[in-house]
Amino acid sequence: MEEKFENLEDRLYDKSYICPVCDNKFKAREIKKGKTVFKSLDLGLRGYFEPLMPDYYYVVMCDKCGYAAVTKTFNKTNARQIRNINENVNKNYKPPMYPLVYDANIAIDRYKKALYFAHIKGSDLSEKAYIAQKIAFICSDIKDEKQELEYNKHAYNWYNEAYLEEKFPIMDMEENQYLYNLAYLAYKIGNKDECKKTLSKVIVRKDLTATLKEKIEDFLEILKQDKA
Ligand SMILES: [Zn+2]
Repeated sequence: MEEKFENLEDRLYDKSYICPVCDNKFKAREIKKGKTVFKSLDLGLRGYFEPLMPDYYYVVMCDKCGYAAVTKTFNKTNARQIRNINENVNKNYKPPMYPLVYDANIAIDRYKKALYFAHIKGSDLSEKAYIAQKIAFICSDIKDEKQELEYNKHAYNWYNEAYLEEKFPIMDMEENQYLYNLAYLAYKIGNKDECKKTLSKVIVRKDLTATLKEKIEDFLEILKQDKA
């Protein structure tokens, strides 16, 4: 275990941030450019990389007040959200210390902190859904099926609600990818009929990317074999 982690540390660096809640200047771990290699894209459009998984490093956490959010939204924290955080977070809260290289359990813990702050600050549902799905992905890395299902359900419900309330792009997703992801989540929580229905709706859309089209075809094939 020790040996494996030795050179991983050299692949990471500290990126500077200013906390939007307490103005503290701090650093967050990030993978150096080109220091982890793309291997494959799974059914959930999650990229697999070696030796480091980039999504283990997508939570930025202030080391003074503990404010945590995903990299996509950390710098977009608005005045209303900052007020909500200041009014509701315990002033004596001390953020945990983490080792320099994150494993799945640490990554899950950091996403849970981000989810906690997403609730407190009153974030968009899509932000909560995004975080929940990341937790589910990483739970699958350590075969924690119970927690994986629980967070996939959250992600599915929140993304479904966000679809009715928010405007595209939502968490950087255009509508086709978004619907594909909803179909994927429906599949993951055992709702195969809905998954198939949504995929059939997306595959006939004219503005599909080649990658997404290929993924939908693979997915429909999997569903067909599931029935047999
Ligand atoms: Zn802070």
